[in-house]
Amino acid sequence: MTADLILHNAKIYTVDKRRPWAEAAAISNGRFLAVGDNEAVLKLAGPETKLVDGKGRLALPGLTDAHVHFIQVAIRAKQVSLFGVRDFAEVQRLVETAVAETPPEQWVLGWGWDENLWDVQPTAAHLDAIAGDRPVALARMDMHSWWVSSAALRVAGIDATTPDPPESKIDRDENGRPNGILREWNAIGLVQPHIPEPDAAALAAWLRETIGVAHRLGLTGIHDQRVEREGAQSFRLWQSLRRQNQLKLRVHMNIAADFLDEAATLGLQPGFGDDFLWVGHAKAFADGAMGSRTASMLAPYEGEPDNVGVIVTSAEELWQIASRAADAGFSMSVHAIGDRAVREVIDVLGERQTVDAPAGLLLPHRIEHVQVAHPDDLPRLAQHKLIASVQPVHLQTDWPTADAVWGDRARYAYAFRTLLDHGTVLAFGSDAPVAPLNPMLGIHAALTRQDARGLPEGGWYPEERLTLGEIIWAYTMGPATMAGKTAVQGSITPGKWADLIVLADDLFTLPGTAVKDAKVDLTIFNGEVVFTRG
Ligand SMILES: [Zn+2]
Repeated sequence: MTADLILHNAKIYTVDKRRPWAEAAAISNGRFLAVGDNEAVLKLAGPETKLVDGKGRLALPGLTDAHVHFIQVAIRAKQVSLFGVRDFAEVQRLVETAVAETPPEQWVLGWGWDENLWDVQPTAAHLDAIAGDRPVALARMDMHSWWVSSAALRVAGIDATTPDPPESKIDRDENGRPNGILREWNAIGLVQPHIPEPDAAALAAWLRETIGVAHRLGLTGIHDQRVEREGAQSFRLWQSLRRQNQLKLRVHMNIAADFLDEAATLGLQPGFGDDFLWVGHAKAFADGAMGSRTASMLAPYEGEPDNVGVIVTSAEELWQIASRAADAGFSMSVHAIGDRAVREVIDVLGERQTVDAPAGLLLPHRIEHVQVAHPDDLPRLAQHKLIASVQPVHLQTDWPTADAVWGDRARYAYAFRTLLDHGTVLAFGSDAPVAPLNPMLGIHAALTRQDARGLPEGGWYPEERLTLGEIIWAYTMGPATMAGKTAVQGSITPGKWADLIVLADDLFTLPGTAVKDAKVDLTIFNGEVVFTRG
């Protein structure tokens, strides 16, 4: 058989234990045909074969982002970003510009703010001063809180008489009037339905643009966590791109656990789909988030003796959901950030379910974030074969907050080394748009335990660092393991999907601090060159 494409003269790190390094890879029909030294692989070249000279550069399997809200990345790219803005006056200037640039009949939308970077508590009054009577809605960096203007509250019908929705909070001033901060989904959900949605054609175009961004960053796969209100819309858009042969990304699409009954009624199960788009896990939420101090903790937050966070789904409720999911063939993907939430999710998905549940789940269960855990619980994920779906890039922005809200407990925050040494399968993602999509930032974070400025010096709990090989595994084989796709994805191995990247910089010889700036030169998806750096 002759190859369609051969990459030769490269330094290929295959992530395949049987042959970790190679010089060349041949591709035929969207799959790897052969992997080995130049001489052997080039024998597969025919007159039509496209030859790509690797020029000695590092090549890796295409990376997968195991936790991303992809349609939100596409939508947020069109909105004002307040991500990492440390100066409140600058925040006000950015919102002012957004107000000026947004047509008057539209909502002014933005995201990424973090009040921990300011000495100001944001309120509706700040936005009213800039936007007058126009509705403004700005999602916090973790998306678990919104900061809205008075006009937005008015449109949503939220006033002093509105009770806090279940598991959520409407912050109020001293007179009991809503002050513009809405915490958690049910409060946010009072406002969100009033925001007019972009039409499907615009969204499809934005998605295609964002797939291009993913290729430029070295991503050829995602686990899409867009499971809330727009889940159906996302799924339809992915399918529409697929029909037009424009879905140049492997998409593992999780579904909201809220819709398990519908999935069960239809007989829908994980894996249904094709090589580009398939049904994934059932997603539920155990708790809130760290920065909003709503992550559920075993002991109170530092300096807040009455606050142990928020349980979004109780252990009993989670058990009911996981049981219904198992009956339908679905495994769970559960958001758990605080140490109590992590413990309860292990109790339910691990201990209770391995005893009581029907055998033969189609995929392993996964816990999303595992941001902090009690040391007693760290060995328990591996014991129960629960995968840690974690986002190293968060530690770059979060480490000072984690120290502040959790104190000494932060020792076991983002405890990747400890989890791995216990035998836990790690799968890395970005949680974009909560953090940037660029996987080099996550690789940098897991390697150095430092932020982009090189802080803290010596690394934050540097004993939790991973090696580059372990990190690349967590961006390739980790997600493939979670998706039940190790036979076709995650390494450069004959027979697997031909998804591959060539980097401009050799991650193995760069100093750790330079990894965040590493660039991708070439991306091959399903045997087709989809990105070349110009
Ligand atoms: Zn997420």
